[in-house]
Amino acid sequence: MYILKNGYIILNNELIKKDIYIKDNKIVEHLDDGIVIDCTDLLITPGICDIHVHLREPGFVNKETIKSGTMSAAKGGVTSLFAMPNLKPCPDSLANLAIEEEIIKKDAVVKVYPYASLTKNEQSKELSDIKELSTHVLAFSDDGVGFRNLDLLKEGMNEVKKYNRIICSHAEDYNYLPTDNNSEAEAVRKELELVSKLNCKYHFCHISCKESFKLIKEAQDKGLNVTCEVTPHHLFLNKDMIKGDPNFKMNPPLRSKEDQIATIKALLSGVANVVATDHAPHTKTEKSLPYEKALNGIIGLETLVPLIYTNLIRTNLASLDDFINWLINNPRKIMALNEVKLESGYPADIACFDIFNKHKYNEEEIKSKAVNSPFIGYELYGFCKYCFVDGKLVYGGE
Ligand SMILES: [Zn+2]
Repeated sequence: MYILKNGYIILNNELIKKDIYIKDNKIVEHLDDGIVIDCTDLLITPGICDIHVHLREPGFVNKETIKSGTMSAAKGGVTSLFAMPNLKPCPDSLANLAIEEEIIKKDAVVKVYPYASLTKNEQSKELSDIKELSTHVLAFSDDGVGFRNLDLLKEGMNEVKKYNRIICSHAEDYNYLPTDNNSEAEAVRKELELVSKLNCKYHFCHISCKESFKLIKEAQDKGLNVTCEVTPHHLFLNKDMIKGDPNFKMNPPLRSKEDQIATIKALLSGVANVVATDHAPHTKTEKSLPYEKALNGIIGLETLVPLIYTNLIRTNLASLDDFINWLINNPRKIMALNEVKLESGYPADIACFDIFNKHKYNEEEIKSKAVNSPFIGYELYGFCKYCFVDGKLVYGGE
């Protein structure tokens, strides 16, 4: 039993002082006693939901494990996350998925929702067992690679729609180099053509260039069920900052300043509905290769909230409600998870963020197994102080 005392919650787009009471795994109206946690100056929210995370296990435990990845999530106030399926074995069948589910059950400290791959081993050659997998997963993705066979994608859309699930697309057209905006925009254009025929639920991961946002907005205006996410790195970095540093290398790559501004505008205008991290841990060796040879991806779970809060909310470019919508409500809605609130009866998945004090992010504090972050050394507001999942303190207070 916990009493979170003297913190702020967001109510009607304002910070309001309110004590929160946790009994067992739920929020309750009041408690007379319990462990008191001083939340003076902290913002208390329902836990963050990150729909784009690479936990690397099973298969690549030298980069990250379900344990270390979810501890990193907890440190970021992320209580629910969706784990991408570029794993070994790839969750393209119930038997393979069971291996991942077993480790989640044993080791995860936050709620992990696995993606299944849309195609077998993400090869775009044969569909995964979509009917069976739909009984266990909410979403399908071949993230890490683009769909290379649009006829198969169309078949997949049909199947996934039958079971009322969603496809999350890593849009990449291999007729172009990744650094060419067409590599993303052309894939988006072709996939949207299919979506308009089949009218299935479709989500674009990590959209990064202005042409893609324009296409997605047109589709949304036509009433298609299309959503998209942006990442903190595409919002706050651009290619001029790379300077040969492998910690600025990811796919889609950092793009021009103009694209960066288009990314911010897309989020502020609601074309992008979600901020997700694309948390992609790699070993130090893999990331200390020269830029051209280094692997794509950066970690992001621990800096998600501080980057958004410091750059967009504290600056008044966006509202407190936007913050809640981008990081909690919209991702949950897209994935058809239950609504969450800081009210009696709801699950005690809760995060407390220090929004009034700056903190310099440093390598030593990182809970992920990997340290490939371009944001090390950044001074930011809004780092997580405490995180609860089902009423259990999973980060903070140590
Ligand atoms: Zn991707």
